[in-house]
Amino acid sequence: MVDAAVSREDFRRRVPRTDALLADPRLAAAAERVGRVAVKAAVTAAQDRARRGELAPEEVADAAVAALPERASSLRPVFNATGVVLHTNLGRAVLSDAAVGAVQAAAGATDVELDLATGRRARRGRGVLAALADAVPAAEAVHVVNNGAAALVLAATALAQGREIVVSRGELVEIGDGFRVPDLLASTGARLREVGTTNRTSLGDYADAVGPHTGFVLKVHPSNFLVTGFTSAAGIAELSDLDVPVVVDIGSGLLAPEPLLPDEPDAATALAAGAALVTASGDKLLGGPQAGLLLGRADVVERLRRHPLARALRVDKLTLAALEATLTGPPTPTHRALHTDAATLRDRAETLAGRLRETGLDATVRDTDSVVGGGGAPGVVLPSAAVVLPPGYAEPLRTGTPAVLGRVEQGALLLDLRCIPAAADDELYDIVRRTTP
Ligand SMILES: *Cc1c(COP(=O)(O)O)cnc(C)c1O
Repeated sequence: MVDAAVSREDFRRRVPRTDALLADPRLAAAAERVGRVAVKAAVTAAQDRARRGELAPEEVADAAVAALPERASSLRPVFNATGVVLHTNLGRAVLSDAAVGAVQAAAGATDVELDLATGRRARRGRGVLAALADAVPAAEAVHVVNNGAAALVLAATALAQGREIVVSRGELVEIGDGFRVPDLLASTGARLREVGTTNRTSLGDYADAVGPHTGFVLKVHPSNFLVTGFTSAAGIAELSDLDVPVVVDIGSGLLAPEPLLPDEPDAATALAAGAALVTASGDKLLGGPQAGLLLGRADVVERLRRHPLARALRVDKLTLAALEATLTGPPTPTHRALHTDAATLRDRAETLAGRLRETGLDATVRDTDSVVGGGGAPGVVLPSAAVVLPPGYAEPLRTGTPAVLGRVEQGALLLDLRCIPAAADDELYDIVRRTTP
């Protein structure tokens, strides 16, 4: 009894000291990469394991090195095998390589507000604004803010503070996580003037409500639900005859019609129909960074741009860089994911499952339905294909590095390949093969 206590004490004394471990060249170098706090945490955890007898004292340094985080951020990359193209909990749109490169280049000192040719101050984000204007010729002017919600808040504040926003009862949308468009608008000091009913709102309903107190008429795309049956809504063209600005929140960020999603509104069509202003998100169907796009009449956009609140909602240089590359660069991962056909996905799933079966794994293929997600295109189903694994794989894959998130359905784990680039199939194979359920 006494002897055991003595030897444990002795053992604890042999655990290497923190300063000795931090002097290990591998750990010293890691402090430059991920910071001293993360390195100390890895060291402390390894020492604790040694004190519990899980490691020999001479194994502590190696264990600390093995436990180091790869980077200084706690955000971890995830393979999106859910089949949800714009997964809100996974950060919505995946940036293109072009956008990632642009972010990297802009991360240091950059000419975001400087004209290097003259050495003078220049308009912030002029490149991305030109790209957005080029992409939507129907817009006389454009502006970019922090997200879709910020675009709405800026419009409501600059155009309707202390006045009324006329909106259909069928378009009082809850966006997600408990946030509601009507609350957002009311928070600016604008008053909501609700018209019509949940399923039907006519031009006359709007016309009766519009008057000297009207700031604007708002159309909100019911982006995450469907109302079917006995329904009707007034169109932008007829509303724009009412002599007040019509602001259209299209949500998704499509700049032009997308044939694959015929019910999703787009900025060009809304402006051509007479909208004074269109607001949209950057990280939904546009496939870019989180941002709020404002497109419309020059006088209206200028009022928003010059409003004091605009300064509080402005985007940083990284967003400007990513958004410009999204607008001018190659098709985005979102576009590619939406447009990959089911036969191609099925072939890839067969190949992947076949390779996994060769290693003795119980892997099969199933036809699945993937969805757009991100609160967009409700009711749209994209035929897809998944590799099917026993459900015991779900947790180790989800908590591994990199993480792989599939979906569990009918007692099986489905890895839907729609949002996995074909070039990543080999890596996905390696991860699954290495995983023990
Ligand atoms: C997504 C969405 C918003 C909010 O946009 P964020 O970019 O998430 O702030 C607002 N309105 C509609 C119709 C949407 O679909």
